[in-house]
Amino acid sequence: MTATTHPGASPYKALARPGRIGSLALPHRILMGAMHLAMEGEPEFLPRLKAFYAERARGQAALIITGCAAVHPAGGGYRTFCLTDPAHRSQLQAIAEAVHAEGGRIALQLFHAGRYAFSSETGMPPVAPSAVPCRLTRETPREMSAAEIAETVACFAEGARFARAAGFDAVEVMGSEGYLLNQFLSPVTNQRTDAYGGDLAGRMRFSLEVVAAIREAVGPDFPLIFRMSGDDCMPGSTAWEETIAFARSLEAAGVDALNVGIGWHESRVPTVSAVVPRAAFAPVAAGVRAAVRVPVIAANRINTPEVAEWVVAQGWADFVAPARPWLADPAFAAKALSGDRAGLNVCIACNQSCLDHVFAQPPQPASCLVNPRAGQEALWPQAPAVRRRRVAVIGGGPAGLEAARAASERGHAVVLFEAKPHLGGQLRMAARVPGKGEFYETLRYYEEALRRHGVEVRLACAPDAAAFAEFDDVVVAAGVEPYIPDLPGVGLPHVATYAQVFADEVPLGERIVILGAGGIGCDLAHYLADEARPKPEVARFYAERGLPERTVPRHITVVSRSDRVAAGVGRTTRWVLRDELRRLGVEIVTQFVPEQIVADGVIGTTPQGRRHLPADQVILCTGQRPAAGWKDRVPAGVRVHVVGGARDARGINAARAIREAFETAYRLGE
Ligand code: SF4
Repeated sequence: MTATTHPGASPYKALARPGRIGSLALPHRILMGAMHLAMEGEPEFLPRLKAFYAERARGQAALIITGCAAVHPAGGGYRTFCLTDPAHRSQLQAIAEAVHAEGGRIALQLFHAGRYAFSSETGMPPVAPSAVPCRLTRETPREMSAAEIAETVACFAEGARFARAAGFDAVEVMGSEGYLLNQFLSPVTNQRTDAYGGDLAGRMRFSLEVVAAIREAVGPDFPLIFRMSGDDCMPGSTAWEETIAFARSLEAAGVDALNVGIGWHESRVPTVSAVVPRAAFAPVAAGVRAAVRVPVIAANRINTPEVAEWVVAQGWADFVAPARPWLADPAFAAKALSGDRAGLNVCIACNQSCLDHVFAQPPQPASCLVNPRAGQEALWPQAPAVRRRRVAVIGGGPAGLEAARAASERGHAVVLFEAKPHLGGQLRMAARVPGKGEFYETLRYYEEALRRHGVEVRLACAPDAAAFAEFDDVVVAAGVEPYIPDLPGVGLPHVATYAQVFADEVPLGERIVILGAGGIGCDLAHYLADEARPKPEVARFYAERGLPERTVPRHITVVSRSDRVAAGVGRTTRWVLRDELRRLGVEIVTQFVPEQIVADGVIGTTPQGRRHLPADQVILCTGQRPAAGWKDRVPAGVRVHVVGGARDARGINAARAIREAFETAYRLGE
């Protein structure tokens, strides 16, 4: 559903101002940053891509930047557009036409992965400035010859020429995130001794030749954005003074705007995950903006209109280019500009259905945890259901909320029953974990959506069979409950479940052993360890008054039966979580098979023999099982649809729960 813009109605005045990138006039300051969706280039996915981009154009993105399009086959990959393929060119043209049909504007991103290309995907060895092994691909690239560099420069120019001919409104050259042009700029990956290496002039030569060649190919008026790296977040990489000198050189070479990217895929600094504070890297864009006169674009954890407004109003950037927030809500700009902040579905930076899909092996099409329709708009068109049903939803956790939202959006009359006095279920639990506070946005969004769609919410109720007799369909989204293992001592008073701890039902101990090192166990350890630290304002107060820092005494041990820790957590955030636990001093014990919980700890076996882990509190994160309390209460004769953890608790997470709920609710009344 697309919101309507009412000129002058936006509370975000800086965002609402028209802007310009070279010759391209833009109605406001919110662009849509490039996203690779792992659907590109396959003919069967073209309708989905067209629908995806068209919906974001209807959502009033001032300018959409496509996902990457490789200018040379060596720089592409699996399900990636490659501009040397005529079929891919016509698909891209069709996407541009779909965006234009909605009144939108679209820029083509010109890309070469360099040493980030996987030979298993391209069928050829990866190339790079120098043969420096790559941690991302676990391959060592081949050094490019001068002739290959010249060929690649020509490929960028040819890509831009195609973009203009195909009707694109601009091009963006990908020169950040550790891809080929960034690799040439960085001394970490550029160890050449020829004209393309050595000092800054040598290392930036490739990028400047690309810009010059594109200008030559498309003329002075075709808008050209360069996505440069503001900070590689890599030890020994390009220095800040060099970054600024590079920005100035790009401006002198004729770029119309600089989009400031942050971090490499090999970097150990999180740049887009939820532990990164909102707009944390906007000051980097501000530093670039202070050095040039062309417009500067900021991104990275700019996920709400008020954060975007702050960045632009502060003069830190001329435009913002959020990417994932457009997956979470295809009407991001339309809602911001019309002042409908309450209706915005906010990206929670979880990466679970977007980056974790795209970086899976093999890659999976990107979608969104909080908007499972993302990337599948063509499969689930927004239209009323054929037959209007009376629908009961049991459970007010993520699956129940989504089932109620999706069913009511399709025109069904929906009543949601929740046993607790509030909505949210596991969303509330997750929101307490450091960096996951964004889940409160998801809960807020659902509460607003249910209110707008007229869903009747009955809290603190346990309806009997008679209550369901009036419904055509019952969606059971009752969720999960902790699994209690059959372990001696499990009933001792100092043993609790993770659910009891998150619900504040038990006082916390000082020496805590968490049984289970899956996602919940690690999240719980993160939460408990972080809670014991002084809050930033308290630490600052102590420091300003010369008081010694005080920390709450708490020692946390997380126990895994195997070698695996945080195994169920997605690839792009698992390392961040493990780093956080290490940083906070959480002890991890692997290959520990618990035998017995005793008054002063846990006894178990390890490959080295029996071991006693001292504890004054033991918390069970030993799995989950479907909540079963609803089974006796649904009468015969009513269609029952069980979704999420209530259907299958194994490996359940919010992404699966919400997706199942959406698909089930969408099909009601078909
Ligand atoms: Fe944002 Fe998570 Fe959706 Fe990705 S899956 S767009 S990170 S909410």
